[in-house]
Amino acid sequence: MTGHDVDPLGFSSRAIHAGQDPDPTTGAVVVPIWQTSTYKQDGIGGLRGGYEYSRSANPTRTALEVQIAALEAGSRGFAFASGLAGQDTVLRSLLAPGDHVVIPADAYGGTFRQFDKVARPWGLDYDIARVTSVDAVRAALRPRTRLVWVESPTNPLLGVADIAAVAEVAHEAGALLVVDNTFASPYLQQPVSLGADIVTHSSTKYAGGHSDVVGGLVVVGHGDDHRELGERIAFHQNAVGAVAGPFDSWLVQRGLKTLAVRMERHCDNAERVVEFLLGHPAVAQVLYPGLPDHPGHDVAVRQMRRFGGMVSFRVRGGEDVAVKVCAETQLWTLGESLGGVESLIEHPARMTHASVAGTALEVPADLIRLSVGIEDVDDLIADLAQALDRLG
Ligand SMILES: *Cc1c(COP(=O)(O)O)cnc(C)c1O
Repeated sequence: MTGHDVDPLGFSSRAIHAGQDPDPTTGAVVVPIWQTSTYKQDGIGGLRGGYEYSRSANPTRTALEVQIAALEAGSRGFAFASGLAGQDTVLRSLLAPGDHVVIPADAYGGTFRQFDKVARPWGLDYDIARVTSVDAVRAALRPRTRLVWVESPTNPLLGVADIAAVAEVAHEAGALLVVDNTFASPYLQQPVSLGADIVTHSSTKYAGGHSDVVGGLVVVGHGDDHRELGERIAFHQNAVGAVAGPFDSWLVQRGLKTLAVRMERHCDNAERVVEFLLGHPAVAQVLYPGLPDHPGHDVAVRQMRRFGGMVSFRVRGGEDVAVKVCAETQLWTLGESLGGVESLIEHPARMTHASVAGTALEVPADLIRLSVGIEDVDDLIADLAQALDRLG
């Protein structure tokens, strides 16, 4: 549905139809995997549908790019080989050596590494702020701040940033706001509608949703300034070339079509798991934006449809106990990543966030992070119960 306006349609209608016109030659209702590098020209420069070479554009990737732009209520989408590849392209497109950025205190570990070990040696300067506090973001701004980077909910502490308020503060300072929307997914939260300029995703997570693909997505907002941002990102996507391949693009597209039903089930299950954890004596604290006493709850109610499938909790007894719980579950798979149909458990301090040990981004050693999947929730709870009960 590229020749048709999908804007008035609901979320799932857009997920299933945006960019997904039936194939004109066969009527195939699913966009084919156009596994081709190049395209026949009808005379020099006579391109069919604008396709010339698959780094520059490929029809399967285009379909995904149209689909994600529609889901994020943005004007233009881009698909990359990984979330980090998309982020790198955003940084190269928008920043120059000498520029300053503000990054979140509990950023995804790979994001922090990208800023600290790749962008900083290249000449970028950064400050770290607790993005859950608008005042902290404001205090971290410098005259050369060009960009504020936000995740919400944050990883792994599940703090909530007030995206609309941070957008205002960033814009007053002449900076752009980028929101990594991986944890919420476009179903639960649409940052462009809250004032963000650019949205990024690791489509490896909820967008793909089946733990079978690594990918990244970038969406820009509306308006003349954003059209220009889109042009710059398009230029760098082609010039740097970290694009999503046709099969990976196809997998993410398929995942996005069921995003709404998956997210509803992730949220249902997460709420039940939270309830169970709150009642267990081995659990010291549960971190979930859906809890009324969570410090970001009111903001989450305003900017999110529901509270997501990620749950973190701290155990009594410290790091050893946390490590043991992770080792004792059967149905919950010990593993990094998140957002797939299967439930995962991990120990951030030793796994996903090991690279930030000893920095301002260090996470508590007694913390366990859950990616609550869409299995039968009673089975998930029973498995957590046997792992936690074993400690007592
Ligand atoms: C996984 C992840 C990334 C990085 O994406 P890759 O696809 O692994 O490159 C970035 N941000 C968040 C929040 C993530 O969870």
